[in-house]
Amino acid sequence: MKISVIGGGPAGMYLAILMKKADATHEIVIYERNGPDDTFGWGVVFSGKTLANLRAADELSHAEITRNFEAWDNVDVVHRGEKISIHGNSFSGIARLRLLKILQRRCEELGVEIRFRTEVADFDSLKADCDLLVAADGVNSLVRQTFKDNFGPDLSVRPNKYIWYGTNRLFYGLTLTFRETSAGVFAAHSYKFDQTTSTFIIECDPETWNSAGFAEMSDEETRAYLAGVFAADLNGQPLLSNNSKWINFLLVKNARWSRENVVLLGDALHTAHFSIGSGTKLAMEDAITLKECFDETPGVSAALERFEEVRKPVIKEYQAAAYESMVWFEQARDYMHLTPTELAYVLMTRSGRVDRESLRRRDPEFVAAYEA
Ligand SMILES: Cc1cc2nc3c(=O)[nH]c(=O)nc-3n(C[C@H](O)[C@H](O)[C@H](O)COP(=O)(O)OP(=O)(O)OC[C@H]3O[C@@H](n4cnc5c(N)ncnc54)[C@H](O)[C@@H]3O)c2cc1C
Repeated sequence: MKISVIGGGPAGMYLAILMKKADATHEIVIYERNGPDDTFGWGVVFSGKTLANLRAADELSHAEITRNFEAWDNVDVVHRGEKISIHGNSFSGIARLRLLKILQRRCEELGVEIRFRTEVADFDSLKADCDLLVAADGVNSLVRQTFKDNFGPDLSVRPNKYIWYGTNRLFYGLTLTFRETSAGVFAAHSYKFDQTTSTFIIECDPETWNSAGFAEMSDEETRAYLAGVFAADLNGQPLLSNNSKWINFLLVKNARWSRENVVLLGDALHTAHFSIGSGTKLAMEDAITLKECFDETPGVSAALERFEEVRKPVIKEYQAAAYESMVWFEQARDYMHLTPTELAYVLMTRSGRVDRESLRRRDPEFVAAYEA
């Protein structure tokens, strides 16, 4: 088969790897508008179960990825300056760039061609020239926009603002820090993802954002203001910018997932709020499922139909949990009257996926402290 992939992110590269591994005669080209070393952001998180899926799909890249992991079992909630730790969880962090490099190398080894600094604009010609066109072109997918009458996208711009920084202050565990200021409430999501760096995402509601006056601030002023809000947590370390800008989270769903020989994959197809750390996991698991559909179902259109049938219910469930979590952070100011232990409990159970008994199995001491 001749396969063209738009987007050299985790979804596009992982699909290319799995398809090429399954059949070396496939001719696969990935078109990526950025260079091999460009990236946005800092580290990404995987939760426990994903790793088994990655190992089963491709042991070599799994081994490389896990060698570079920073793993931890605690969620730390910081409120009113007090830290509550909840153990028994399973998360791992890796720099996004490192993950991309591992996948790039694996593509090269297998003979997948990646054309960097190549922006695709003419989707019709590319579509006509291949058997399968994979649109793994990210959250602002132009393929999805171009064929919107077919895909039926449902896009919702969420009210909260967030900004993705790094810092050399190391947070050993998934740390959720709340700071109340005269402008309003700020929440930080932070975790160490290599020996020297942590991701530090800051989120606030629009009222807080307006009252702090960010619209009038330069990037430098914004960074200094936020470093001040989290001064006690950063321990004197600055926030590091990677062209970091305020964004509103875009919730993406699509009524239909493919059109003739074109299929959406990863963030182009669906998003899940970063507070449940599943975007990269879902992108790579999409690739695993799509490849399996090609194994089981002959013909491109039948395989794409099967993909939607099998994968849609899984994504629906994740998006439902992520939605609860996202809305919780949008309403975070309503929870600030809680004590640190109460807040930690409410946070741990916010997505509806964890109840008191499962939390007790993870960390009996924490649940006992909450009940007391
Ligand atoms: C603040 C924040 C925090 C996050 N935290 C986490 C986390 O903790 N854990 C996690 O798993 N995920 C996290 N994510 C999500 C994660 O970054 C994405 O879900 C994941 O990268 C999706 O992979 P993808 O391959 O679908 O898309 P992307 O990684 O966005 O890749 C799409 C690629 O397509 C390229 N492209 C687009 N258009 C074209 C074109 N026309 N021609 C050529 N190339 C094109 C882009 O340059 C890009 O490289 C976070 C996201 C944000 C914004």
